[in-house]
Amino acid sequence: MKILIADAFDKSLPQRLQQFGEVFEDMARLNEAEVLLIRSKTKVTPELVAKAPNLKLVIRGGVGLDNVDKEACKARGITVMNTPEASSVAVAELAMALMLAIPNRIVEAHVSMKEGKWLKKELKRTELYQKTLGLLGIGRIGSEVAKRAAAFGMKVIAYDPFIKEHPAAKLVSLEELLANSDYISFHTPLTDETKGMVNEALIAKMKKGVILINTGRAKVIDESALAKALVSGHVAAYGTDVWYSDPPAADCPLLTAPNVLGTPHIGASSKENLLRIGDIVVDILSKRR
Ligand code: NAD
Repeated sequence: MKILIADAFDKSLPQRLQQFGEVFEDMARLNEAEVLLIRSKTKVTPELVAKAPNLKLVIRGGVGLDNVDKEACKARGITVMNTPEASSVAVAELAMALMLAIPNRIVEAHVSMKEGKWLKKELKRTELYQKTLGLLGIGRIGSEVAKRAAAFGMKVIAYDPFIKEHPAAKLVSLEELLANSDYISFHTPLTDETKGMVNEALIAKMKKGVILINTGRAKVIDESALAKALVSGHVAAYGTDVWYSDPPAADCPLLTAPNVLGTPHIGASSKENLLRIGDIVVDILSKRR
């Protein structure tokens, strides 16, 4: 088996995969690859598929398959697999980290300390306790966020058209979620239905001063509409791990909008998660030997 590792996995993975055959990381050898391992960076386009005549299996280490052209793979008989169960805790912890950093003003406090300022009087914090968290999508990651938010004393509600009840959240309509949430955290996949769903009209239905957290997919939100809402103050802050492109374009309006806290798409990049993804890749390849 010839295995091409195209994206960043745990550094132990190449050695762990040698039991299955030859392992290489050089995209110039794509034409030789029978197995292609990707995360979110490599896009499996029809053009890539055409340059990989020996490809039989694509494994996406992670959840979303929006960087894989499934039709192009299907047409060539290439199996596509992912590791959806591995990343939930890693992403949920980052969502909580963003949700905690914003009201606790961690970044402003740290930057001001480094600048020699002592803003003890100015930096007033707010608590998560007794605030309402609305989860848009309560699948694997949303569920982990729900449990953690409940431990902070938040009231957790969720809108998910495919889930009727949940042990850690009260399922509500989208309208109710928008009208009642102090925080909204996004955990839907990017689909034709969710793309751009958080537009100007939907943002207008949110509580004034809402804080949005996005560790799902950037394109669920219309970034121009969100930037305007941040400027007007209707949305008080946006904590995001995800962007229209990795990295965001220089003219991305969220890079200059006020009260945006960003991370560079590191939701799945905990050491523990990369090891878990490696375990699943080994398991998949063991079953195909
Ligand atoms: P999941 O499939 O377990 O859960 C997604 C949930 O969204 C499902 O319950 C589904 O019913 C719901 N949903 C679908 N359409 C909806 C809609 N229109 N409105 C509300 N809910 C809707 O997926 P998951 O493992 O929880 O992952 C969620 C997303 O997180 C992934 O699709 C991916 O885009 C993103 N993700 C990001 C990172 C990162 O690095 N930041 C890492 C992993 C996953």
